[in-house]
Amino acid sequence: RTDASLYAAKAAGRGRTVLSERRRHRLADDLAHALAAGGLRVELQPVVDLPTGTVSGVEALARWDHPWFGPVPPAEFVAAAEEAGLIDELGAAVLALACADAHVLQDAWGSAVHLGVNVSGRELTEQGYADRLLRALEAAHWPVTQFVLEVTESVVEASGPAALRALRTLRAAGVLVAIDDFGTGFSSLSRLDELPADLLKLDRSFLTSLTTSTRRTVMVRALLGLCADLDMLVVAEGVETAEQAALLEELGCRAAQGYHYGAPQPVAVLAAHPWQAPPPGRAPVASGG
Ligand code: C2E
Ligand code: MG
Ligand code: MG
Ligand code: MG
Repeated sequence: RTDASLYAAKAAGRGRTVLSERRRHRLADDLAHALAAGGLRVELQPVVDLPTGTVSGVEALARWDHPWFGPVPPAEFVAAAEEAGLIDELGAAVLALACADAHVLQDAWGSAVHLGVNVSGRELTEQGYADRLLRALEAAHWPVTQFVLEVTESVVEASGPAALRALRTLRAAGVLVAIDDFGTGFSSLSRLDELPADLLKLDRSFLTSLTTSTRRTVMVRALLGLCADLDMLVVAEGVETAEQAALLEELGCRAAQGYHYGAPQPVAVLAAHPWQAPPPGRAPVASGG
C-alpha cells in the first residue's frame, strides 16, 4: 500500500464522518423549526387481540418528512432531539398528536382503544417527567388506564433510580408500562418479576426463527407461560407472515403487532378500516400492509 492510497482511504473515511455530522446538525436545527411549525406527524399501528381478532390498541410512531432529506427514521431524529435538548418538545408534540388521533379512532370504531407511545431514556429521566405526562394526558382528555408507555428494555436496564421512580409513579397513577424490544437487552429471566411493567413487547428478532427453530418455539412458549403467571401481557412485535401468526396463536400468545396485521398508517386510513365490527367468534384478521 502506498502513502497515496492510505491518504485517499483516510480522506474518504473523514469525508463520511464530516457528512454525517453535518446531517446531524442540520437535522437538529430543522427539527426545532418543524416542531414549532407543526411539521411532525404520527402514524398508528394496530395491536391485535389474537383470541378475538379485534384491534385492542394502537402504537403511535413519530414521522418526520424533511424538506430535502425526505422521511427521516425516528431513531435518527429522536437521537438528534436528545442531543439538541428538544426531546421534551418532541415528546409533547407526539403525545398531543397521538391522543387526538386515538380519540378519532375511538369515535370511528365505537370501542375502547389502548394508546401506546414511546419514550426515550433521556426524556424519561428528566426532572418532573411523570407529572408532566400525567398533566398532558389530562389536558388531552385521554384516560391513563388506556395509555401504554413504551420503554425499551435497554433503557430500563441502563437508567438508574430516576427512571424506575418515574415508571412507578406512572403505574401508581394507572398508566400501563410496556417493556419494548424485550429480548434484545440483557435482562435475565430471573429479573422479570422486578421489572416495573404490565406488558412485554417481544422483539421481532424472536419471530424470525420462530417457525424454523423448535428450540426458539420452546423458549417463546416458556416465556408466555412465565408472563401469564406474573400477570404480564405479551405483545409479539414484527409479525410478518400468516405462518408466524398461526404459531403464536397456537402457543397462546394473546396480542400481536406487525405488517401481517397492518403497517403504521395515518389515522384517517385506520379509522375507515372495518376492524371495528368483527364477526362474532374468531374473526380472520384483514391484512393491512
Ligand atoms: P418500536 O417502538 O419498537 O416500534 C416498532 C418499529 O417496528 C417501528 O419502526 C415500526 O414501523 C416497525 N415495524 C412494525 N411492524 C413491523 C414488521 O412487521 N416488520 C418490521 N421489520 N418492522 C415493523 P419505526 O417507526 O421506524 O420506529 C423505530 C423506533 O423508533 C421505535 O421502535 C421506537 O423505539 C422509536 N420511536 C418511534 N416513534 C417514537 C417517538 O415518538 N418517541 C420516541 N422516543 N421514540 C420513537
Ligand atoms: Mg414501541
Ligand atoms: Mg419494539
Ligand atoms: Mg423496536
